[in-house]
Amino acid sequence: MDAVLDEAGQSPELKARDNNAGTTSEPHTSRSPSNRPSRCEAEAAVRTLIRWAGDDPTREGLLDTPKRVAKAYEEFFAGYNDDPEAILSRTFEEVEGYDDMVVLRDIRLDSHCEHHMVPIAGTVHIAYMPDGKVVGISKLARVIEIFARRLQTQETMTAQIADAIEKVLKPKGVAIVVDAAHQCMTTRGVKKPEVYTLTRQFRGCFKEARYERQFWDLVKG
Ligand SMILES: [Zn+2]
Repeated sequence: MDAVLDEAGQSPELKARDNNAGTTSEPHTSRSPSNRPSRCEAEAAVRTLIRWAGDDPTREGLLDTPKRVAKAYEEFFAGYNDDPEAILSRTFEEVEGYDDMVVLRDIRLDSHCEHHMVPIAGTVHIAYMPDGKVVGISKLARVIEIFARRLQTQETMTAQIADAIEKVLKPKGVAIVVDAAHQCMTTRGVKKPEVYTLTRQFRGCFKEARYERQFWDLVKG
């Protein structure tokens, strides 16, 4: 009742907590470096790459390119700003006796390979066997997007998605299959446009042949 509020209406105690949060070097992500360059430095780096490619960053058509590339990077790599575990932590326990697997198939995947920084494009099929609690299905798609919008290898990303779901939801099992084409392989290097890479993680009950079979049956529709 006699709490002291500052001009912003915040109690000093709350404000102190906010200040502390602000001093941690990596407030939102475990992987984003604390010495992040400025937007201006990022744009200068793009101009260097344009020159390295053999073109002139001062010609008209390329003048705004560094700005556009930096903006595109904000989108491509927005996953560093989000915490997948926080997204998954809001669960529902009232499932009206639903006790079977939840499967999402053909989720579009757009990521970038960490070796060449070129696109990885494909689809993800994912399932989990709830153990008393379920998560909103859009949250599963969101978690995939968060991990995809970072620099990745397909193997690491597949395991990270399974790990996050296992850790937060504690289901009886998780299954994930990622089927993707890597531009670093389709448009350069060995140039094999027809190659798709499949990675998978089957955890918990999905290690049993009958559940794995059911998963594939549902995914194939
Ligand atoms: Zn690559």
